[in-house]
Amino acid sequence: NKQVIFRDYVSGFPKETDMEVRESAMKLRLPEGSNGILVKNLYLSCDPYMRNRMKKLDVPSYRDSFQPGSPVTGYGVARVLESGHPNFKKGDLLWGFTGWEEYSLITAPETCFKIAHADVPLSYYTGLLGMPGMTAYAGFFKVCSPKKGETVFISAASGAVGQLVGQFAKLFGCYVVGSAGSKEKVDLLKNKFEFDDAFNYKEEPDLDAALKRCLPEGIDIYFENVGGKMLDAVLLNMKIHGRIAVCGMISQYNLEQPEGVHNLMNMVLKRVRMEGFTVFDYYHLYPEFLEMVLPQIKEGKIVYVEDTAEGLENAPAALVGLFSGRNVGKQVVVVSHE
Ligand code: NDP
Repeated sequence: NKQVIFRDYVSGFPKETDMEVRESAMKLRLPEGSNGILVKNLYLSCDPYMRNRMKKLDVPSYRDSFQPGSPVTGYGVARVLESGHPNFKKGDLLWGFTGWEEYSLITAPETCFKIAHADVPLSYYTGLLGMPGMTAYAGFFKVCSPKKGETVFISAASGAVGQLVGQFAKLFGCYVVGSAGSKEKVDLLKNKFEFDDAFNYKEEPDLDAALKRCLPEGIDIYFENVGGKMLDAVLLNMKIHGRIAVCGMISQYNLEQPEGVHNLMNMVLKRVRMEGFTVFDYYHLYPEFLEMVLPQIKEGKIVYVEDTAEGLENAPAALVGLFSGRNVGKQVVVVSHE
């Protein structure tokens, strides 16, 4: 069983060498009487929150730290090989929490979602139809309180979550602008995801000027993925009664000392509502999300760009690449195509 082992707790930017790929001689078998399941992992998801799990957490978080010397864990798509659980039978496909290894023993399979629609690429269940998709759906429709015709700005807009928020907002009837870290990503935003406008924040360090050019009337909704200087610039450009949905702040995850935010007083002047959220509070909406998004995929109204790393050997580089913007679209690792 080939595995990606987490070596030790990390400070600063994570590196490929913080993980190693090893062959485990241990035979995985469902223990007698177990109500777990044995799965073959097909696709694994690289997600920014995994950075937090590389720290020794002294405050409780929604997920524990990785265990040094043990396989990395995270969301993935898998096929059931053996089941001791009433929800699953041999051959079922599922997405949920699994290990970064070829085969995993899942001890709490009730937290996994059975895949009922396999007529779409299965890797979509790490992104569009999985946790990032639910994040975009809940964050935009439930936290941002959007109205047709409003202006929406999204940072890290070409990524797993951002590309969907932008497409949901466009289909809903908003004016949508995104920022991303390369020309290729800006082209994707404008030409593939049909954003109204987009800019490369790395080439335009005057973020306030870039926002004023793309959104001269100001921002009704900011979907916050990066934090730091971008948040400060956005605060100068919010409209009265604007909303900021705080999904994440990836620019802060590798800093020992988070950057300060200087323009918060604008929230008072502009009566802005800023609300953080986590997807875990919204999984009860997964059926309603699927009902909306599956037809949109089949009709070609929603498209999804993935960046695929082949094989567990390439998983460490894929994961750390999230923090330099190496990924173009949702970062997936393929363990096995079937
Ligand atoms: P992405 O697919 O967008 O990948 C991460 C991207 O972040 C990179 O490609 C890069 O894009 C950008 N980035 C990396 N470092 C920086 C930096 N220092 N400054 C600005 N941008 C940076 O990831 P996801 O779509 O999966 O996640 C997006 C955000 O959503 C993250 O903050 C994540 O933590 C959050 N999240 C929150 C959830 C919740 O429940 N609240 C659930 C899922 C995700 P670029 O080249 O454009 O810089």
